[in-house]
Amino acid sequence: MQALTTRVKEVDRKPMNFWERIYLPAVVKGMAITFSHMFKKRPTVRYPEQKRPFSPVFRGLHVLNRDEEGRERCTACGLCAVACPAEAITMEAAERKDGEEGLYREEKYAARYEINMLRCIFCGLCEEACPKDAIYLTETFTPANFARKNFIYGKPDLLIPNPKTEEAAFAEAKGLNN
Ligand code: SF4
Ligand code: SF4
Repeated sequence: MQALTTRVKEVDRKPMNFWERIYLPAVVKGMAITFSHMFKKRPTVRYPEQKRPFSPVFRGLHVLNRDEEGRERCTACGLCAVACPAEAITMEAAERKDGEEGLYREEKYAARYEINMLRCIFCGLCEEACPKDAIYLTETFTPANFARKNFIYGKPDLLIPNPKTEEAAFAEAKGLNN
């Protein structure tokens, strides 16, 4: 019969000799292998104190961006929602009122913007579709949670801190403190 792989190894069925029957050499050999690992570099990382660097192409949690004056960039055009293959994005548009020019960059803004992280496949198409540089995926992953509803991220969860009024939080969100 033809073998399916080249790694086939026939079982040795010959009777065990004296040393094999007492298992001692096998135990010593096993202990030597275990002991040798004490001097090898540890492959494990003590998370969360230590963190591994992400791949340059890693796509994590979304952030809704602001411009350099702290105004929300999103104009609620809906292109990200249309581009999303998982239908994870929902939004409601609103008209900017007089006096709100410092809050919203465009005349229309997202009054509600939600991403369902349980649907999201972190493909990054929303980021690519956005004409306003208003959304991007960071090097942060979605934290674990026990309730499904907590995976629906709204504007308060997604919006980056204001670079004018919350400088420290903005720098931390951008990873400028590292
Ligand atoms: S990363 Fe992909 S799946 Fe997730 S919200 Fe953006 S477009 Fe949708
Ligand atoms: S995030 Fe970008 S693509 Fe999505 S609604 Fe806002 S401006 Fe449009």
